[in-house]
Amino acid sequence: MVMYAPGMLKNRNYDFPDKGLRYHFLGGGNEVGNVGCLLDDDKENRILLDYGIAPTDPPKYPLPSPSVKHSIITHSHIDHLGMAPWLCANHRTKLHGTSITANISELMWNDCYKVSKIEGYPLPWDKRDIDTSIHSWEIHNFNESWMQNDWKLTLQNAGHIPGASMLSVKTDHGKVLFTGDFDSRDSMLVEGAKPEKTDVLFIEGTYGGRNHPNQEEERRRFCEEIVRISDRGGTALIPAFANGRTQDIVMMLHKYLPELNVHVDGMGKRIARIYMDHQDDLKDPNLLQSSWKWSKQVSSKSDRKKALNADCIVSTSGMLDGGPSIWYLNRLKEDRRNAIFFTGYQAKGSGGRSLLETQSIPIWKQKVPINLDVKQFSFSTHAGHDEIVQFSSDCDAEKIVIYHSDPTHSRPPLVAALEKNGHQVDTPENGKFGNLFY
Ligand SMILES: [Zn+2]
Ligand SMILES: [Zn+2]
Repeated sequence: MVMYAPGMLKNRNYDFPDKGLRYHFLGGGNEVGNVGCLLDDDKENRILLDYGIAPTDPPKYPLPSPSVKHSIITHSHIDHLGMAPWLCANHRTKLHGTSITANISELMWNDCYKVSKIEGYPLPWDKRDIDTSIHSWEIHNFNESWMQNDWKLTLQNAGHIPGASMLSVKTDHGKVLFTGDFDSRDSMLVEGAKPEKTDVLFIEGTYGGRNHPNQEEERRRFCEEIVRISDRGGTALIPAFANGRTQDIVMMLHKYLPELNVHVDGMGKRIARIYMDHQDDLKDPNLLQSSWKWSKQVSSKSDRKKALNADCIVSTSGMLDGGPSIWYLNRLKEDRRNAIFFTGYQAKGSGGRSLLETQSIPIWKQKVPINLDVKQFSFSTHAGHDEIVQFSSDCDAEKIVIYHSDPTHSRPPLVAALEKNGHQVDTPENGKFGNLFY
């Protein structure tokens, strides 16, 4: 049972700092996801960067935010905006973000609400609060600065998913850059993030200590495996996250295996349409459009049955935690010619992790053995260890704050590498203050 006490900070004296800038992670300081970071200064400027939940089982929530008028939402993944409805309803907070992020937010909140009902966990916000949040957006384009009191704020491409932003904050004391979730490498959907000079860099360290396989080689391995399954008359089920991964995979299949018969199911279909309405934010809008025309979107029960004869089915949920991918798995599992190819990380407690570790999966609360080929591929759009270190060096940052990172496994190797390069490194903890320019 998740306990959450909104208003917990009501009586707490939450003053501004006496000197310089101060940061305070409500969540995401020493963990992946669940991000909420307050930044304020001695001139009573204050913003909240992101306010998410961690969609673990049970979910985790950041600490309750004190009153804040402006929150910058870097992108539309639930671990960065899942708690925004609470914020808007309780503090009348204005949300700032790109148009794609704002347009996808409603889908993400509705989905989060639905999942909370199905799984029976409490959410600290209500359906009405989604309406309030939808009307709380203020849209900003990349590279168009605005003044938030004394601070000059700018969103820049973060290279993670379409619309995902880094936030640059220029203050009288110095400049701060938050990467949000970022990748300096190009993906099928977006160009990589570009570094720029900053005094302080808040960098996500999800992949500290780990490097990604070479993108080209991973793509080749994936395509070869799919061809192998198709040649033996099987169907490859490709569970993929709706927001970013589904579209990346369909574009990849269209580009490298155009002769295949690919069906797409789940929330990724609606998200793709939103991406296509924002052509300027995509690396190659024509490729997304042509990939979408080429693939078959499942939109009815009979479509779903037809998809069982396809070469590939790309579908949510990406971790086999419900959604159409479970429906497909339940039917594909009887024929050994079929296969399951994961396209990303499988969290502890997820159906995907259970399949990888025990060759079985809970379906309708029963443990069902799965005797199919199961393989995992890495198509992450988070920077790997080497990219994080290179990006930090290219930003020429004096001080680096590593957040969105596992404090036991990922952060220590990153701290060592960054200190070796001469950066001063902060390792924040949720609920504790950190000082800058004091
Ligand atoms: Zn994240
Ligand atoms: Zn993300």
